[in-house]
Amino acid sequence: MNNRLYGNLIFELSQEGRSGYSLPKNRFGSYEIPASMRRKEDAALPECDEMTVVRHYTNLSANNFGVDNGFYPLGSCTMKYNPKINEEVAALPQFAGLHPLQPAETVHGAEEVCKQLCKSLCELTGLYAFTLKPFAGAHGELTGLMVIKKYHESRGDEARRLVIVPDSAHGTNPASAAVCGLDIVEVKSLSDGTVDVEALKELLARHGSEIAAMMMTNPNTLGLFEKQIPEIEKLVHAAGGLMYYDGANLNPMLGAARPGDMGFDVMHINLHKTFSTPHGGGGPGAGPVGVRKGLEPFFPEVSPYHGNFAVAMRALAYILSLGRENIKLVGPLATLNANYIKESLKDVYELPIDGLCKHEFVFDGLKDKSTGVTTMDVAKRLLDYGYHAPTIYFPLLFHESLMIEPTENESKETIDGFIDVMRKIAEEAKTNPDEVKSAPHLTPIGRVDDVLAAKHPIVTYKQLQNDTN
Ligand SMILES: *Cc1c(COP(=O)(O)O)cnc(C)c1O
Repeated sequence: MNNRLYGNLIFELSQEGRSGYSLPKNRFGSYEIPASMRRKEDAALPECDEMTVVRHYTNLSANNFGVDNGFYPLGSCTMKYNPKINEEVAALPQFAGLHPLQPAETVHGAEEVCKQLCKSLCELTGLYAFTLKPFAGAHGELTGLMVIKKYHESRGDEARRLVIVPDSAHGTNPASAAVCGLDIVEVKSLSDGTVDVEALKELLARHGSEIAAMMMTNPNTLGLFEKQIPEIEKLVHAAGGLMYYDGANLNPMLGAARPGDMGFDVMHINLHKTFSTPHGGGGPGAGPVGVRKGLEPFFPEVSPYHGNFAVAMRALAYILSLGRENIKLVGPLATLNANYIKESLKDVYELPIDGLCKHEFVFDGLKDKSTGVTTMDVAKRLLDYGYHAPTIYFPLLFHESLMIEPTENESKETIDGFIDVMRKIAEEAKTNPDEVKSAPHLTPIGRVDDVLAAKHPIVTYKQLQNDTN
């Protein structure tokens, strides 16, 4: 990549009068667009030849990093490999070319896709019915909570407005409850990272008749299986609340256990996490919501038409191409890969909660804190070695969180390569800490000032010019 040669912005390459095409004189004379419909001035578009345009954008695209370039162990986001057959299936013109307002009798194929996907999701989760309408996990949470709210209202139980959320929950959980007009009460975690059942009992004793639901993420955001679910489920149900399963971490459960069998009433699934679909840069996604029998009449209308249909197509392609036998390997392999990395690195990185994890786990920075090298520095240094950084500074339970999720897709060689580099960085932190603290050195853009970038983002060309002049 040579940004000097091909420019940071296409506008910097513009030459007045340059054009990307040449056409011969035509035989038909000219047609004048009426003056009232024409611009007063020319649009401020860059003027470039075709080669310049192609090289500019091709080189820019090579600056991007994705699962197709390299290892992407971004915990909590599940950057899973998206088999290329999914893309082909989703792009089939018979599906991609459908219009949402087409007559129903012309879209039986698409309806069958939705029906089959819902059926598969029911089977995988042990729930009774799914809606594919929500556009993302957070949207699914809102949808699921709307179902729960309507359920209580349908029974005249209007007082149930409290949602219990563990302190380890993803920020979207309390946010969704708030958007749904419900109140949030937090339940603490034990030092082993799982829900404190005694604290929950106290909470239920105080607020029992106000509890609408308890939201649980399982495995939770620390990658730990919540072993007390059978007891928690009984307690919450006995108090009259419903159990909500945040299924963003469903990956390691595939083939191992089903939320429906654990006593959950409502859940969402992040199709873009558990069932592939590339979603870097914030989209696209889908957050289908599943419910126990009897709750399906309460599904609200949360999107026009049928949600993100192309994401549903990819999910169904993923499920069908794995098949019943192989989908059972997804959870165990994701779990094996995460535990292998954890055990291979825990002598040099601080492991605050030891023991078996599921698909992901959290380090609390380097073990040797005397070097001054932070989790941020480790993450930046990984870029020099060609790896995407893990999730950092989340969850908030630790100061130097470094959250690693390899997924089930990676080969042993890839994972070993990552482990080697993580060990190398731990060594560099001792022998050459400045090299790590000033990383990255080999990326097109070096260490940026995060605070300045967040507080004073330069997002327009004009501003960039003014600032650099
Ligand atoms: C990703 C995630 C969400 C939110 O899902 P989006 O699709 O990003 O809206 C909710 N809960 C957990 C545990 C997650 O990891």
